Amino acid sequence: MKPNFDMFHQWSKKPRVTYVKTSNEKIAVVYTRVSSKEQYDTNLSLDWQKKAIDEFALRSDIRTAAYFGGTYESAKTDGRKEFQRMLDYIKKNKDTVTHVLVYLLDRFSRSGDGAMRLSKELREKYGVTIVAVTQPIDTSNPGGVFQQNLQFLFSQYDNELRRQRAMAGIKEHLEQGIWCKKPPMGYTAIKEGKERKIIVDETGKKLRKAFRWKAEGIKNDEILQRLKAMGVQIYKQKLSMIFSNPFYCGIIADKMLNGNLVEGSHEKMIPPEVFLQIHKVRAAAKGKYGVTHKKENEQYPLKLFMKCDKCGIGYTGYVVKKKNKTNNKVHEFHYYKCRSQGCNCNQRTSEVNQEFVYFLKDYTLQPQLVAPLLYHMDAAFDKHYEVALEQQKMYKAKLADIEKSSEELEDDFYLYKKVPEDVYIRLRTKLAKEKADIAEVLSTLDVENSNLKTYFREGITISTQLATSWYSSPIPVKEKLQKFIFPEGVTYNREKGTFLTSKVNTLFEPIARLNSITDDDKNKQGSISAALSNWVGRTGFELPYNKLNVNIYKSKNIKTHRLTHWEYM
Ligand SMILES: [Zn+2]
Repeated sequence: MKPNFDMFHQWSKKPRVTYVKTSNEKIAVVYTRVSSKEQYDTNLSLDWQKKAIDEFALRSDIRTAAYFGGTYESAKTDGRKEFQRMLDYIKKNKDTVTHVLVYLLDRFSRSGDGAMRLSKELREKYGVTIVAVTQPIDTSNPGGVFQQNLQFLFSQYDNELRRQRAMAGIKEHLEQGIWCKKPPMGYTAIKEGKERKIIVDETGKKLRKAFRWKAEGIKNDEILQRLKAMGVQIYKQKLSMIFSNPFYCGIIADKMLNGNLVEGSHEKMIPPEVFLQIHKVRAAAKGKYGVTHKKENEQYPLKLFMKCDKCGIGYTGYVVKKKNKTNNKVHEFHYYKCRSQGCNCNQRTSEVNQEFVYFLKDYTLQPQLVAPLLYHMDAAFDKHYEVALEQQKMYKAKLADIEKSSEELEDDFYLYKKVPEDVYIRLRTKLAKEKADIAEVLSTLDVENSNLKTYFREGITISTQLATSWYSSPIPVKEKLQKFIFPEGVTYNREKGTFLTSKVNTLFEPIARLNSITDDDKNKQGSISAALSNWVGRTGFELPYNKLNVNIYKSKNIKTHRLTHWEYM
């Protein structure tokens, strides 16, 4: 006898469905894309795609709910963002959306297996079918799915072929000296008739000066500042890259050429001699601390760094050679000399250098002071980073706001067509700039305090043996070290044999004060705190509240000195 099934209903099984459509209506999202920038700019193909899709939707009784895409293919990130936005929309509206409409399947995706996986997920998880209006296939049966997958694979195959052909084309051009990729900074590609020409542009004219300066031996920092003053802002690394790219003197070097060099047909920014000259300068700089010193210069570490207290002009050095009459040996006597007429200041270098060593002793930390100094330093840093972290949080929130505004703007333009194109472009540029500004500030907010702490600890270590370090180091190190501690040089008083300085590195300034505290000071701890309070409360450790301050903060206390320090180490 057949059992009564009504009693067994609770054990019946249904296929698991992850989506439920709220109505039988066919609702689609539309995704358009063109393959080249030209098509995008003329908007022809995009309009064409949209029109064909709209007609298909009308015929098939499909209501279109949203439009995505409208970009061209080489705009890789834009395209991906749009695609992701469409997927997000589908997921959010999975109870209504039933179709994705595209013009051709390759508009949906060019990577065959990726597209197959995605279309499977959309089909099975969200009940959404991809339909190419020019090749409609019913994917509700295995045959249809198979056919669509084949089309995805063909798209990918086409794409690979196209890529390979393009690569071969580029290589062939390069071999003929024709640069067909994006030209490096300072160059612009123009069209003259049918011909593409790569010429030195306005920025390039300024870079040309940079090459000349570099060839004259001017330091990168100085060159960067000069470029900045002319409106060309680049990073240090970028400048080095430019200086080492032979493209600028007309030579093409590219991975595709497999180690070969080709003379390019583009305009030369500089003659090859200048390029080579620079690399001689660079080679010298790499080997020996920037400047090549003649042996005799070893006698004059304070040359130019030390200024005359009467006229303010930097001392130069000179040598007097005397022959000893008894043994005929030549003796050299070295002097620092003020270059001003009338100052008549000639001082034996050995004496002045010794006096400078004494002067440095004021800035040489006594070993028993290392511990209190480190204690105060750590406290100051922790305080500083507490605030820096807060700042970072605030800027990150700001960044998120802008991010959100950008997305809304994209929606208003592409989706809701609420803003005209010129307004959209203006706003987009504005937002992008704000974003870049904040990102820059964020990059300067050093919340990674261990680096700076380490740096200052090392600085303190240097300071405990400052005088001896300076005395025993070769001249390039001497020069770096003295400039590190006294960024603006020192003034020499010939009568008293003493030095004066207007500016001392933040790190070394309190050391002189600490050193003046005597052991029998009744309020020793208080004196130490007082000496350090100035240091702890310095603006250098305060938080940068705006961008301008950040830069001052960076350049004055951290970056330049850190560099000097590392080079010195
Ligand atoms: Zn003088």
